[in-house]
Order: sequence, then C-alpha cells, then structure tokens
Amino acid sequence: MFDLSMMVAQSARQFPQKTALISGQQHWTYAELDAAITTVANQLRAQGLTPGQAVGLQLKNTPSFVIAYYAVLRAGLVVVPFNPLAVEREVEHILTVADCRAAVVGEATAATVRAAAAGIEDFLLVIDTDPTGEDSPLQQGELSFAELLTPGPEVAGPEAAGGPQSGRRADDDAVIIFTSGTTGRPKGAALSHFNLWMSCTTLNTRSDPTSDEIALGCLPMFHVFGMSGILNVSMAWGMTLVLMEKPDAEGILDLVQAHRVTRFSAVPTMLSDIVAAGAGGRDLSTVRRVTSGGSALRLQLISQFEEIFPNAALLEGYGASETTSSICVNQSRQERKIGSVGTPSWGIRMRVTNKEGTVLPAGEDQIGELQVTGPTIFNGYVGDPGATEASFAGDWFRTGDLARIDEQGYVFIVGRLKELIIRGGYNVYPSEVEQTLQRHPRIRQAVVVGLSDDRVGQEIAAVVVPHPDTEVTEDEVKDYARAELSAYKCPRIVKIAAQLPHSTTGKVLRREVLNSFFD
Ligand code: ATP
Repeated sequence: MFDLSMMVAQSARQFPQKTALISGQQHWTYAELDAAITTVANQLRAQGLTPGQAVGLQLKNTPSFVIAYYAVLRAGLVVVPFNPLAVEREVEHILTVADCRAAVVGEATAATVRAAAAGIEDFLLVIDTDPTGEDSPLQQGELSFAELLTPGPEVAGPEAAGGPQSGRRADDDAVIIFTSGTTGRPKGAALSHFNLWMSCTTLNTRSDPTSDEIALGCLPMFHVFGMSGILNVSMAWGMTLVLMEKPDAEGILDLVQAHRVTRFSAVPTMLSDIVAAGAGGRDLSTVRRVTSGGSALRLQLISQFEEIFPNAALLEGYGASETTSSICVNQSRQERKIGSVGTPSWGIRMRVTNKEGTVLPAGEDQIGELQVTGPTIFNGYVGDPGATEASFAGDWFRTGDLARIDEQGYVFIVGRLKELIIRGGYNVYPSEVEQTLQRHPRIRQAVVVGLSDDRVGQEIAAVVVPHPDTEVTEDEVKDYARAELSAYKCPRIVKIAAQLPHSTTGKVLRREVLNSFFD
C-alpha cells in the first residue's frame, strides 16, 4: 500500500515543528499540516466518497490547496486539479472526462463549478469560504472547507499520523492532470502515485535538495510544473514552501528577499518580467537554483537573470504533464549547455525518431520526434483509449515535440511537430526563427507561425513585441532576419504588437496569434 501523502507524514515525523508552509501571515508546521490532511481525508471518506473516485480541486496556491490535495490522496481518492480561471464549459469537460464525484473550490468560482456539475448526480461541492464574507455562499448539501478541517469521527480508511493507509497501490491513478491545451482541447493525463513519487524524489536528487531550503511556489500548483516540481519536491524533502496566490514580478522579488528563498521554478514569461522589473536594491543572494520550463527560454535571459540573482544558476529543463513534469534538465551551471534542456534525469531514456519510426543517431542535424520512457511516464489519457494508444510507440511515449540529441546526450527541443512549418518543401522550425529574432537588441519576444499559401504551401509570418520604451519596424525585423537566417527561414510577413496572447501557464497561444493577427 502506498500513497503520495505519506511523504508529508514522513516529513512531519522528521521535522514536526518545522515550518512547512508560509502563506501571507499564516505559518503551518509539518505536524499541523499532516494532522489537517488526516482530518480532511477522514471527513471526505465520511461523506461517502470511496477509494478510486475522483475529486476536482480548483484553488489558487493556498494552504487549502495543499491540504485538500494530500487529503484526497490520503483518502484513497484521485485528485483532479484545474485552473481557477476555467469557464463553465471547460469545467464541465474536466469534471465529466475525469468522472469527478466531488470538488473543492474557492468561493469566487463556486457558482461556475456548481453550474458545470449540475448534471452529475450526488455531486459534493466543498467551498473554501472567505471567513470575512458576510453571506454564506453555501447551498443545500454543500460543505465549507472549514467543516472538513474540523475533526470528525475516524471512519474506515486513513489512520492518523503513524501510518496513513489509503488502500492505494503505487501504480494506481493519483492525479488526473489536464494538459495546457496548447495544441487542442486539454487531455486528462493520469499520473500514478509512483510517477509522482519518482518525479519529486529520485529524479530530483541531482538538484541537491535539502531540508534547509526555502522554496517559492509562484507557479500554479494545478499545473504539473508547480505541483510536481515545487509542491511535491518541497514536501518530500522537508523544505519550507512560501505560497504565492497571485504571482507577479515585484511580488516574487519581495518574497525572495523577505523569506530568503533558495529555489524556485518559473516559466519564461515570468522570468522575463522579473528581469524587466530588476532587483531594485533587494538582496536576492540566497537564491541558488531556478528552473525554467514549459516553453523555450530566450537565451539572453539567462545572463540577464543571473546578473540580478548573483548566486543563482538559471537552469532550463523540459517536461510535460504526461511525463510528470521535468524529465530532462541542465544540472548545474558548470554542466549546462545553453540552448539545450540538459540531459535526461535518472531512469529516463530518450530517443529521436523519423516519420517512419526509425531511431536517428545523435547529431547536429538529426531532428525528429522525441520519444521518452521511464518511471514518470503517465498511465494514459482518461476516457480516451484512442489518444492513449496513438501517443505510445510500444513503451515509448511520443511527446509530439521535435528534438535532437547531441553526442554528449544533451537534448535540444526544436519545436512541436504540429507547429513545424513546411515552406516550399523545406522544414522551418518556428523556435529557431524566434530565438534568432529575439537576439535583436530591441525585440523582447517573437512568435513565428505558418500561414497557408498557394505557392509555397506555408508562408512564414512573425509577430514581434519590442522591449518597453523601444520601437522596431517591420522592415528592420525582415532585414535582421535576412542577415541572420537562410532565405527560406525568413519571415515574409511581420507584425509588431504590444503583447502576445499567453495561457495562464505562460505559453504563447499560437492559435490565438493566428486568429488575432492574420485573417
Ligand atoms: P496540449 O498537450 O494540451 O497541447 P501542452 O503540451 O502545452 O498542451 P503541457 O503538458 O503543459 O501541455 O506542456 C508540455 C509541452 O511544453 C511539451 O510537450 C513541450 O512542447 C513544451 N515544453 C516544455 N518545456 C519546454 C522547454 N524547455 N522548451 C520548449 N518547449 C517546452
């Protein structure tokens, strides 16, 4: 029997009085956190929920999220985290696909979830009510999260500290995490307790985690990067985790200084905002390790970032929901290769194949689909056996990303298979063109897309965002591209914009770019 919440119980045994969570003025020790998890787990089971059933979780980065997340697991249930910004249609999709019987949600989004769950019989809605609010948002049959935090009868199921028993096995589903939906409708990737455990422990050993560390939770924990890469890592290693509900650059910098943060993870847009904000005289010397992932990192950002954080290494990694977060990372400043996402983590194997499925040898020009296998690869997409089958080649998960692996085993992500542009028969990788344009001193961000074209199949178009207080013209962008890239890779159509549409996980939404900038 095995469930992921045991790692919090273990940290509570080892460091009972140590601060596990900081959220605003609130501090939770490991002993308090673990006790709350057991109480809520018992209460969930007392509501009639039975092991294996799914529970939605739609909260910002709050202590309630952390407690509910591990309590659901300790009760033997399956967690289905999702974005607080999701609209009713999206919530309905998630609750239905994952077959949720209950959800724990914030007060601000309760009405949306209630409406989305209207068709689900005996659905239990638990609302994390605002204690300062005047009117109760609860409707008949609904519970407040505060009620779940009140010790009730010990029902069959989880035992108190000393040996929580969820009745789950390592391979059972623990979390159904919905992909970002960058390339289509979000898919529910089922991750097992073992996947999550391996991801936050073994795969992380080379990042030298210690219980003395202070981690900053500025990435949303409903997404795999924040959940596995920060929340689970912090709890497994007995660190203190500082939670951030509304991450913004100034807030991140303030919290780093106030709590002497040693590590955090972020997506490139956040890092770029941090660099734009600047240190502003703050002491940021405690930070040692910052991991970037989720989308390609603009290379100049690394040196700019490290100027602000004098003792930090900004290390790029790579992963996906289906791989339980990062499976490949640059391990240290000394070992890293700029432009690469590093080498595969422990137990992970990677290969690159061509269209016919033939494995390509390592090398500069051997670009193909990246396929991966190892202990953190998901169990499959819930409710979609067809998509699951299509995403595997035997034991190998087909990431849908284009990559090359060099002779030393470093992996370079070149883009997504779906985003590959074929112009006049030549392959053009948008990220190569984007990285090139972003080297221009006045360009902050660039996105490159293919537009259908009768003559060449697809024409290359770029949307460019200049740095604040600077300007760049369409002709300057085209001239720069011509000087830096082969002619077939150069954008023929260029638009200048103040900003680009991003997902909440910081990814540029290319479909929206196509719709908003090109007819
Ligand atoms: P969907 O599958 O619904 O289209 P998504 O693939 O964006 O959404 P996630 O699981 O959040 O869902 O993201 C994983 C993807 O993010 C990877 O497959 C890869 O394309 C991209 N990615 C992650 N890290 C990097 C990186 N360092 N550089 C470039 N791309 C990255």
